[in-house]
Amino acid sequence: MALPSNRIIVIGAGPVGLCLSLALAQDGIQVCLIEALGDDNFLEQVPRAGTNHPATLEMLDRIGLYDKLEPRGIIAPLFHYWERRDNRLIAEFDHAHLKDDTRFPYVLQCERIKIVEEALELAKSHPAIELRLSTSFTSFTQDADGVVAQVTNAAGEPEPIRGAYLVSGEGARSVVRKDLDIEFEGFTYPDRILNIEVAYDFRKHGYTERNYISDPDEWSNLFHWKGPPDRWRVHFPTAPDDEETALTRADALQARLQRFLPTGRDFDIVGSNLYAVHQRVAKKFRAGRAILAGDAAHVNSPIGAMGMNSGIHDAFNLAEKLVKILRKEADEGVLDRYERQRRHVALQHTQAQTMRNRRLLAEKDPAVRKKNHDELRRTAEDPKLARAFLLRSSLIESLREAEQIA
Ligand SMILES: Cc1cc2nc3c(=O)[nH]c(=O)nc-3n(C[C@H](O)[C@H](O)[C@H](O)COP(=O)(O)OP(=O)(O)OC[C@H]3O[C@@H](n4cnc5c(N)ncnc54)[C@H](O)[C@@H]3O)c2cc1C
Repeated sequence: MALPSNRIIVIGAGPVGLCLSLALAQDGIQVCLIEALGDDNFLEQVPRAGTNHPATLEMLDRIGLYDKLEPRGIIAPLFHYWERRDNRLIAEFDHAHLKDDTRFPYVLQCERIKIVEEALELAKSHPAIELRLSTSFTSFTQDADGVVAQVTNAAGEPEPIRGAYLVSGEGARSVVRKDLDIEFEGFTYPDRILNIEVAYDFRKHGYTERNYISDPDEWSNLFHWKGPPDRWRVHFPTAPDDEETALTRADALQARLQRFLPTGRDFDIVGSNLYAVHQRVAKKFRAGRAILAGDAAHVNSPIGAMGMNSGIHDAFNLAEKLVKILRKEADEGVLDRYERQRRHVALQHTQAQTMRNRRLLAEKDPAVRKKNHDELRRTAEDPKLARAFLLRSSLIESLREAEQIA
């Protein structure tokens, strides 16, 4: 236990824990990064998130990740809203409107699994990061001088690990959040989302790399990922009492895809899964020396691609503050500002926008649908309105607003 007490303990080598660790280490701070998965199964995780917004790309570039990810992803300047009823493009948004706001006027379609794989390699070779794979965090204690994390190490033995602060990047099931009895306020949608991965080029039907498809009965999302082979991810809503086995049977998946796009030929289905969608934000992001970031602090619907992006934004915000504290350039009060800034973003941007996106796609009232679609079209066609829309959808506005929070 005679380890440096001014280091940061980060739990979870997901995108948030890894970005935080790299940002801290590159600023000369010692980090102990603890991850339950090991070298043998780290890459077996499902791909999950995959759309990286411009502001996130700037952050990934700062820690040397962008250049590694760009060749593994797809640069996508455009995204579409479609009306499924008559198979009509409602509006096309072009990130080129953000050319004066960001060095990256596009999103990079690059899945979470590729991000964590590349980031883990950087972490392994950084001398300031002690990486503890196959190590599960179980509990912690804290006092005025620091924190002690209890883990079960790779040998299966209990071990205490000491540090100055503890950051939970453990994902939605955060042990730290539960240990601190912090309420995860919000709700879970009654229905689950069916995700089908297909090797088929939807671009020949007019779709672009990211498509939000509105329909009163069965809205969907359609996204393109780089292979080989290239894959497209299609999301569909399901009914709350639908049985998983019935939903994910091969013939049921084919039938659903044929209803979506009748090609008359079986699709090459690469995989499918069903997942629950939550809208929850922790009541507090910090208790003393323990801090929540990413999914440990907030979870939301994936419509709009904001969960991982806003989690990475948490990581960079927090890294800057922890560096200042450890260099004695700021006192612990800056961590309260982290909470004020990032909770505001989670509630007023991430949660608000993803809920609005879902309502927009699923709206049933024909008059409201028409009004919404007309407004989207007008917004996309007017450069000033389009830029304002893209600043919000790409989370740049959320970062600018957070900067104004004292
Ligand atoms: C289908 C799907 C699609 C999505 N699409 C998008 C998208 O396009 N864009 C977007 O921004 N977001 C998206 N999201 C959300 C995104 O995946 C999450 O917001 C993001 O992965 C959160 O990152 P994280 O690092 O906070 O947590 P996680 O990615 O959950 O990582 C947590 C890490 O901590 C480890 N861990 C957990 N508990 C312990 C423990 N006790 N001890 C040690 N290690 C532990 C885990 O093994 C894991 O490696 C999507 C989610 C889903 C399900």
